Amino acid sequence: MDNSIRLLTVRGIDIRIHVTFPLILIFAVLQFGVFTGQGIAGVLFGVIVTLLLFTIVVLHELGHCVAAQYYGVPVTQIVLLPIGGVAQLEHIPEKPVQELVIASAGRLVNVVIAIVLYLAHLAFGIGGLEGDPMGLLMGVGQGGINATFNYVFAANLFLALFNLIPSFPLDGGPVLRALLATRLDYKRATVIAVSIGQSMAVLAGLLGFLEGDLFLLLIALFVYTGAGQEGQLVQMRRTFGKLTVERAYSRQAHTLNLQSTIKDAIALALTTLQSDLPVWDGGQLMGLLSHHRYA
Ligand SMILES: [Zn+2]
Repeated sequence: MDNSIRLLTVRGIDIRIHVTFPLILIFAVLQFGVFTGQGIAGVLFGVIVTLLLFTIVVLHELGHCVAAQYYGVPVTQIVLLPIGGVAQLEHIPEKPVQELVIASAGRLVNVVIAIVLYLAHLAFGIGGLEGDPMGLLMGVGQGGINATFNYVFAANLFLALFNLIPSFPLDGGPVLRALLATRLDYKRATVIAVSIGQSMAVLAGLLGFLEGDLFLLLIALFVYTGAGQEGQLVQMRRTFGKLTVERAYSRQAHTLNLQSTIKDAIALALTTLQSDLPVWDGGQLMGLLSHHRYA
């Protein structure tokens, strides 16, 4: 993804932050420092828990990546956006079991972390862990080790539960498709999963609008467009997947030879709209002159 900066590389996967990422830190400063009236202490707490939240997001995404790599799917990068993380897999396996495992591995990481934290709470009495996850996430402003502990615990529960919602682009979407694909054709399974996801997004959006809940409205919009994109992607793969080069290549390609001048290349590019030019020498293809080498 463009406009992102590499933080580190784990298992050959670049972990990058998008340039818009600092927006979430500004939100944290407002949410925990300004709106709660906690001042500098609140700001510090907000920034620390937000960075912890995104550490958890990275671990969640790495869960997907490790599972994907296990099935031989190359993973290019994880990009952190203000709304969460995206693991970019080269492709999603169409075998239902593999998709199910990859889609569930992220949440498994959160469940394991939550169990470890709960055991630490029982053993050492850290954190209160009272209240629902959402309340813990949005309402904490008191700072301190216990509040931080509660926040991290709640964030893991939230990620595990929120991603149960059976809609793309949340993890529940691929889980639903994989379950449907055990009985139906892959494309049909995708169409049904996308429709279910979009219907739920419309209902959530309506509820958000009626309640005046901007956050819910934004989430609904994000889910609706994300689900639609997944549907289009599968449709495109199915359409173009069967198309051979024979049916798509241009039969009137302009070529150069080793004695052609760069001026010839520019003239051809300007008059033919063909930006990349094959270079021939005595009936043999020598290579390609790309637009960026002479423009
Ligand atoms: Zn996930």
